[in-house]
Amino acid sequence: MYRADSKKAEEFISHDEILDTLKYAEENAGNRELISSIIEKARACKGISHREAALLLECNDPELLEEIFSLAKEIKQKFYGNRIVMFAPLYLSNYCVNSCVYCPYHIKNKTIARKKLSQEDIEREVIALQDMGHKRLALEAGEDPLHNPIEYILESIKTIYGIKHKNGAIRRVNVNIAATTVENYRKLHEAGIGTYILFQETYHKENYEKLHPRGPKSNYAYHTEAMDRAMEGGIDDVGLGVLFGLNTYKYDFTGLLMHAEHLEATYGVGPHTISVPRICSADDINAADFENAISDEIFQKIVAIIRIAVPYTGMIISTRESQKSREKVLELGISQISGGSRTSVGGYAVEETPEENSSQFDISDNRTLDEIVSWLLKLGYIPSFCTACYREGRTGDRFMSLVKTGQIANCCSPNALMTLQEYLEDYASPETKALGTKMIREQMERIPNPAIKRRAIENLKYIGEGKRDFRF
Ligand code: SF4
Ligand code: SF4
Repeated sequence: MYRADSKKAEEFISHDEILDTLKYAEENAGNRELISSIIEKARACKGISHREAALLLECNDPELLEEIFSLAKEIKQKFYGNRIVMFAPLYLSNYCVNSCVYCPYHIKNKTIARKKLSQEDIEREVIALQDMGHKRLALEAGEDPLHNPIEYILESIKTIYGIKHKNGAIRRVNVNIAATTVENYRKLHEAGIGTYILFQETYHKENYEKLHPRGPKSNYAYHTEAMDRAMEGGIDDVGLGVLFGLNTYKYDFTGLLMHAEHLEATYGVGPHTISVPRICSADDINAADFENAISDEIFQKIVAIIRIAVPYTGMIISTRESQKSREKVLELGISQISGGSRTSVGGYAVEETPEENSSQFDISDNRTLDEIVSWLLKLGYIPSFCTACYREGRTGDRFMSLVKTGQIANCCSPNALMTLQEYLEDYASPETKALGTKMIREQMERIPNPAIKRRAIENLKYIGEGKRDFRF
């Protein structure tokens, strides 16, 4: 049973430890020898502590910064190669009883259009997403026990997995809903969700309480301990994130890594993903009102150092970021991006008019999925629609042990090529198809293991014949 006065969150996200860490980082910012020794340690790709990471974040020495960025690129290459996993958000409902001051879905907003998808609407949305080529979704919904109870979320997941339109299928549904009970997490797990994602927004308790004045989300402990309850409910892939701009970035960066350390120490498995959203304007929210908003340079530094600190954790950015910003952070550590996204409720099947706007944030990257796939290919990346780990039961510590030993690359590389081939056959424009085919040909040559290569060749042939029930 959850205790409303739980102090557990304040133990693993200790305010004093964060302040001490930031002080230590400031005091040692000029200590080149110490910083170099941390960079050397990080080269082993086993991660570094929040204290060490905070010191790297404080470093402004151009030469050392260059080393940090180049190490981040190296680690990214080692663990993820040039693969980028694609996904799309699906907003189910923007009814919400909370009052988060940075989100236009807050309860007092009377200008935003309130919408909730019926199961028929969801079917239309999912068909539109499948017609784009998506296989992996992130479900989003406001917190509202009346409009969006857990039964509605579970029914929606079932609907989504059940839709098979032409060659389309959604093979992994990640879920980003409000902190809930162990019992509800167990139900989500049984419904077959991929990752449970919940952004902490900020780890600074006092500021958290100011930013969430009313509603269930105002309980800092309940929100911060959500991942522990999710793990207890059987969900072993969880995704962390903070909304950079709400609080000072150094504090939240340190808190985020402490949270990852807590999960690793307690459950033997760190976060599956870390998201790095930045505050964005939307409806009645103006990003300029948030004095802690961070520059592109700081954002890149954060991405690079998270990559170094937790090499085995996937990193996600959304279409909040512009094409230019995304291009830069892809090489520094990002492994998953959304494409062709709509942040409104029901926006895939029917384009919204400005009068009925229901978006959670304004999109900076408005390109279609095909344009994004083509762009990635031109940059030398392999857009991957792979969901194999979830389908093969490689989650939690099973997944992490493969990642930590680097063996996951034996799965990711051929799977990326097969799912790209599937995309090219079914959804790509002629230009993207030509680019992708060339990429697949080149990459097939680079698969070192003959058995894996043979199986990939067989699968590519199978996909070329129009069959989609291939084994990853
Ligand atoms: Fe509701 Fe989430 Fe928006 Fe807060 S951030 S108002 S909980 S939808
Ligand atoms: Fe992700 Fe697993 Fe596919 Fe690799 S094999 S891309 S880790 S789902």
